[in-house]
Amino acid sequence: MHPEIDRVLITAEQLAARTAELGRQITADYAGKPLTVVSILRGSIIFAADLIRHLDLDLELDFIGAASYGDDTESSGHVDIRKHLDGKVHDRHVLLVDDILDTGYTLQAVCELVRISRPASLKTAVAFDKPARRKVDLAADYAGFTIDPVFIVGYGMDLAQKYRNLPYIGVPKKEVLDRIFGNRP
Ligand code: 5GP
Ligand code: MG
Repeated sequence: MHPEIDRVLITAEQLAARTAELGRQITADYAGKPLTVVSILRGSIIFAADLIRHLDLDLELDFIGAASYGDDTESSGHVDIRKHLDGKVHDRHVLLVDDILDTGYTLQAVCELVRISRPASLKTAVAFDKPARRKVDLAADYAGFTIDPVFIVGYGMDLAQKYRNLPYIGVPKKEVLDRIFGNRP
């Protein structure tokens, strides 16, 4: 284990098994329909890469860059769109993929942005869901793991841009969190 990680919350094996299961479910739900998978940069790329290899569908892959908070713990509600879709999604079935649904501000803002293009349908898939922290009325259509409100890293997710490459989901050590976030109550 990485020396700055306190504990492994979800192993690589658990991630792989659950992602495959979600892939089978999504494949069945969209059977016969062409799909545009939109991965929200940067945190969702590993989940999206794993998920799409379990989608037996005619699909396109696109990206939206969104940031809800820089290196702070709490989402501000202000979401910056840093990169827009390359392709057209009008009249297409769209599945938005994000790493984690926390306050919900990010996914809500990206959903609103995509809806402007009038897709045929719009659904959301997240690897992790922290329902206890929700600030807006939003639920993901597909969620890999429901977790307690702890700060997690790995499998694409960072802490001040580190740890995205960890193949498991870990909880950083308290001193590491305090160093980045400050020792706030
Ligand atoms: P929301 O807008 O739902 O509050 O936050 C969603 C975004 O915040 C996620 O896409 C992710 O980038 C970041 N985020 C929320 N919770 C965590 C967490 O526990 N760990 C990490 N690394 N990022 C998180
Ligand atoms: Mg994100």
